[in-house]
This record gives sequence, C-alpha cells and structure tokens, in this order.
Amino acid sequence: MSKHISLILIGCIVLLMLGAGLYYYQNVLAEQSVTVDHNKNATSSKKITQQSTSERKLHENKKTDHTNIKASDNIVALTFDDGPNTTSTKKILEILKRQNVQATFFMVGTQVEKNEAMVKQVKEEGHEIASHTYSHKNLMTGTSAEIEKEVGDLNRLFKRITGSEPKYLRPPFGVYDTYNREKFGMPIALWNEDSQDWVSRDSEKIKTQVLNAIRPQSVVLFHDIYAETAAVIESIIESLKEKNYHFVSVTDYYKIIKIN
Ligand SMILES: [Zn+2]
Repeated sequence: MSKHISLILIGCIVLLMLGAGLYYYQNVLAEQSVTVDHNKNATSSKKITQQSTSERKLHENKKTDHTNIKASDNIVALTFDDGPNTTSTKKILEILKRQNVQATFFMVGTQVEKNEAMVKQVKEEGHEIASHTYSHKNLMTGTSAEIEKEVGDLNRLFKRITGSEPKYLRPPFGVYDTYNREKFGMPIALWNEDSQDWVSRDSEKIKTQVLNAIRPQSVVLFHDIYAETAAVIESIIESLKEKNYHFVSVTDYYKIIKIN
C-alpha cells in the first residue's frame, strides 16, 4: 500500500515538473520569440527605408524588399483612385516622399492622357501604378469589345508613357460581374477600408474614419483628386507609423498575405 502511495507521489511530482516546464515554454520562450520578431521588424523596416531612399535616388523602380514582413505584421496599402492631377496628386507625392512611404495609384485614362508627366513622376518615385479603366465606366455591363477598350486602351497608354503595363485593375465603384471578370485579363484589387473621402470631403472626418477602421492587413481607399485628402494624408501616415504600420504597395500586399 505504501509502495502505491510513493508511486502516486512520484507520479504527481513528475506531472508538476512537466506542468512547470510547459508553463516556462509557453510564457517565457513565447515572449522571447515575440521579442525576436520585434527585432526582425525593426531590421526589416530599416531595410525598407534604406532601399526606398536608394530606389528614389536611382530612379530604378526596383520593388521594395518586403521579404521580412509577415502577414501577421501590421501592414497597410494606401491606395489613391481617380487621378492623377497636377494639384492634389502632386501634393500627396511630396508627402509620400517626405514620409518615405510607398503607395499605389489607380489611375483613370482620361486623367493619364492629360497628365503624362505626373504618371512618370509617380513611377519614378517608386510607387505602384494600377488601372482604374480609361473613362471610369461601370464594368458590370458592356460587351467584350467595350471592356477590352476600357482596360486595353489604358494599358497601352501606360505602356507608351512608362514602358510597362500595370498588374492590377480596380473596377470603378468596385463593381463587376463575377462572370465577366475574365474579360478584364488582369487581377482585380479592391479595398477593405474606405476613407470615405468622397462622401465627407472633410479632412478631420477622413482621418477619424481611417484611424477607427484601420486594422492589420488594410487596403485603404482614398482619392488623390481631393484637396481635403491631400491636406490630411500626412497626419494619417504619422498616426499609422505610431501604430507600427508597414506601408506596402498593392502588389507587395498580395505577396505578403499570399493571395492573388
Ligand atoms: Zn473611382
């Protein structure tokens, strides 16, 4: 009987030791790995800063190396639709340069043809250029030929101005028919946070809306054609930097979260 009791006691001690070991592993080692991750993030953001600076100096348009950024990090893709123009787009570009932040511009063909120099500048400064159709037409309807014209004409114009075609298409109003998406011939990139700058046209409301809605893995919709957006974007970027967000292009966003 006493033999049984000592066996039970030994069993209890072994279980206690295992429990303590498990506790140590979960709480102490896990915390260490979080620390390591933070260090990695710090290194990678430093790397991005250095690369973005040299990118802009060299005007080579090399993609920023985001290989150290994980899908679990706070990542945000700032996207600007309906431009470019020579006023608010220009101001936004100055801010992005000063803040060393990369963004994506979903341009409309009718604006592109009027502002070729701005298109070149967007590319030269290391941002991603994407398509928002030639004349901002609703792509829910339309024959194959009409859709080809809206998408294809703009791609050919981009090719002539910048030497390459964009990867992504954002259908105007975010609407398209799932049955006609293969007619576009390019992947679709929508958004998951709307700054509602087109609704409020109010800088403070735009900032409040974005900061309330922001979460890891955000693609935020803005319009670079509004002065109110240009007036508040620097303050939004600074707030997101305080929240440790990494700014990525749409292409890098999809690479990091591994879809599309
Ligand atoms: Zn639009």
